[in-house]
Amino acid sequence: MGLVKRAAEGLVNKYIWHKISFVKKSRELLVSDSTLRDGEQTPGVSLLPDEKVRIAGLLAEMGVDSIDAAFAGAGGSEVEALKRITNYFGKSRDMPRVTSLCRAVESDIDAAFEGLRLAGVSKRGVSIFIGTSPEHMKFKFRDASKERIIDRAVKAICYARSKGFAMISFSPEDASRTEPEFLTEIYEAVIDAGAVNIGFTDTVGEMTPFETFFKINYIAENVFNFRKATFAIHFHNDLDLATANSLTAIETGKVDIFQGTIGGIGERSGNAPLESVVMALKLKPQIYGMTTRIDISKIGPTADEVYKLIGVEIPDTKPIIGRNIFRTEAGIHQAGLMAGPETYEIFPPSEVGRQGRELWIGKHSGRHAVYDCLAKNGYGGSQRIFDEFKEMAGRQKGVGERELLEIAEMQKGVGERELLEIVERG
Ligand code: MN
Repeated sequence: MGLVKRAAEGLVNKYIWHKISFVKKSRELLVSDSTLRDGEQTPGVSLLPDEKVRIAGLLAEMGVDSIDAAFAGAGGSEVEALKRITNYFGKSRDMPRVTSLCRAVESDIDAAFEGLRLAGVSKRGVSIFIGTSPEHMKFKFRDASKERIIDRAVKAICYARSKGFAMISFSPEDASRTEPEFLTEIYEAVIDAGAVNIGFTDTVGEMTPFETFFKINYIAENVFNFRKATFAIHFHNDLDLATANSLTAIETGKVDIFQGTIGGIGERSGNAPLESVVMALKLKPQIYGMTTRIDISKIGPTADEVYKLIGVEIPDTKPIIGRNIFRTEAGIHQAGLMAGPETYEIFPPSEVGRQGRELWIGKHSGRHAVYDCLAKNGYGGSQRIFDEFKEMAGRQKGVGERELLEIAEMQKGVGERELLEIVERG
């Protein structure tokens, strides 16, 4: 190795070491977004390279620290997407790091390098993985020994370094079902080989919060070189616990990087929804004591655009970004919200970049909301309208604002006097 190259590598190593110890001491949680990679693995979803560029731009504006943008090993459009994303960010100093997921094979790392070569050395990265659970070793690697798996992981990391990658992350796939002793062993080996980040993956989404707490602490206490790398988490949502597990992991104080996706989209029932975890951290500083760089007012608009591009509607019931969070139907809640939004709302719509609340008109609506709706539409409220509406809503499904206004219009057209005349005329 030439003198210049060796000096340059020394500088890079020094920079990285500085960065790792800073991140580990800091109370700032780094956010890695996998919408473009795991999110794109949502069954039936695919994104064109330029759509990935558009989303990457929005994620950067929202303040994510790194973007897991592609699985370069799939070739073609994935490599193209990486090229266009790095080209889009150009030499911007505060661009997020762009990374590619790679199997522990040279061709995946080559493909990642082809896609990311134009990004600065600290702005490009690889996330290398290999299956480590008994299930994965048996069925994917035909009962390969643990030594062989570790060997492959270490070789892949050395290869990535030789290719010019400095930001190398390693995650045992299916870490949650991997024997703890083996996990410890492989983490130690990859950190020794030069991985600057290690990840804990609940690939199959089988963890519960209590287990998460113990497992994360176990890793932090048993991996002897734990402080030489940052620690990231990646939870799946098969038990609807990805948010809870992510937050519990963060609560241990050992996590440096949280990975999630917009809306929690991803393989099977998806990942930890980035917006839910970020909002919980924001609303409970006294519990988590960690901040992120996410501009939460961008959450709503970013989610809208992501869902538009993947061609899926945001489910109304989705927390934080779904419509129902600012929609109420029950009379007592509506009256409360009208008196003071804080009665039934933990944050106002504007905080996540949404506009207005909806007092839903339906079977459960109370007088306050019904009269308010009538007034907004130019009708006077009356007991008769209210009674007729409630009676109709009790016997028919799907009765809402439209029906209420129809009743009001009918009653306006047919005033009591006219009604009397009609009756008299017979
Ligand atoms: Mn995943």
